[in-house]
Amino acid sequence: MPRPDLLERLAVQTAERAQAQLQRRVRTIDTSQGPYVESGGRRLLAFCTNDYLGLAQDPRLIAALKKAADESGVGSGSAHLICGHHREHAMLEEALAEWMGRERALLFSTGYMANLGVIQALLQRGELCVQDKLNHACLLDGAQLAGAALKRYPHADVDAAARQLQSDTSIHALLATDGVFSMDGDIAPLRELATLCARENASLMVDDAHGLGILGRDGAGSVTQAGLDQHDVPVLMATLGKALGCSGAFVAGSTALIDGLTQFARTYIYTTAMPPALAAAARCAVSLARTESWRREKLAALIKRFRDGATQLGLPLMPSPTAIQPLLLGDARQTLEASRALETQGLLAVAIRPPTVPQGQARLRITLSAAHEEVHVDQLLEALASLHLGTAPV
Ligand code: PMP
Repeated sequence: MPRPDLLERLAVQTAERAQAQLQRRVRTIDTSQGPYVESGGRRLLAFCTNDYLGLAQDPRLIAALKKAADESGVGSGSAHLICGHHREHAMLEEALAEWMGRERALLFSTGYMANLGVIQALLQRGELCVQDKLNHACLLDGAQLAGAALKRYPHADVDAAARQLQSDTSIHALLATDGVFSMDGDIAPLRELATLCARENASLMVDDAHGLGILGRDGAGSVTQAGLDQHDVPVLMATLGKALGCSGAFVAGSTALIDGLTQFARTYIYTTAMPPALAAAARCAVSLARTESWRREKLAALIKRFRDGATQLGLPLMPSPTAIQPLLLGDARQTLEASRALETQGLLAVAIRPPTVPQGQARLRITLSAAHEEVHVDQLLEALASLHLGTAPV
């Protein structure tokens, strides 16, 4: 028997996905300005970015990036541990640690890499990794990479998590959860999970990619909002590519954690450090996110306006208090049609379909931002009303 061809198999899988109308497509964006993007010669009002505070195009971030690029060039030149760790990285790490109320912070080039690196550094083969079923893919992948015994509990079900932790009390265990769930927008039951972890001697890790900048006092995130600290949540990860409007990620925690990650997190060690200019822009973003609380207040008002309007229209809202406001339509094809219909009206809200979300739970993932105005939300509600979505599928 001749060896089967790998690329042929991939092509078959791709064709199958297309046939099921579940194929993913890349859209090229020509320019972004405020909440608008230009794509394919059309100007679209976007409700799909994670730029929750509207910082991605702030002139002060752009100026910080340009100044640092003038001083240090574009690329960092190497990994952190070779000679890629610039003063800008060090200053950003200090600013992040201070904001998070932790001893130290460590930068990673992306959130995906941070989660892979942290879990792989903490857990050894066969050790227990308990995770919410709706955690982001990179938390799940991190557990797989570590060769951990991955147990996934039904979404936000703390009792189920407890049973999983109790299944083997003789080995090291990590419980990892999103702080804010990326496709649902709801907040994890962090206080209950922290109590559980303390009782079961498990370490709690929170991925606060979607909570940072949005929740808690001065935007310090879901952990602060829950009244928890470094003792309760020893491993805190968040990204710089969402509310902070930049790119990259960090882990914050004790000196022992950061020293350990510096030695053992392979996705920190063996990759090029983020551009120093990006670190400079991110440090500017940290300062603005902390001090310009009007951004959080504006966002909260827009969320309320959207939820009130959507409730009046009988739209299938999910119970989310955050900037992520999905409309759960269910059927994948109909969700795609709804997204296309919005686009013909000049609005961009993407259809999120399986396998990104569970079967039968396709949704329009609508995200709001402080870059939006009330008229934008009203425009969205008007367009949604014209689709006659109701509480039932389209
Ligand atoms: N964690 C969560 C919860 C996310 O939503 C994302 C990105 N969508 C990531 C991690 C990965 O972050 P990054 O985009 O920086 O790789």
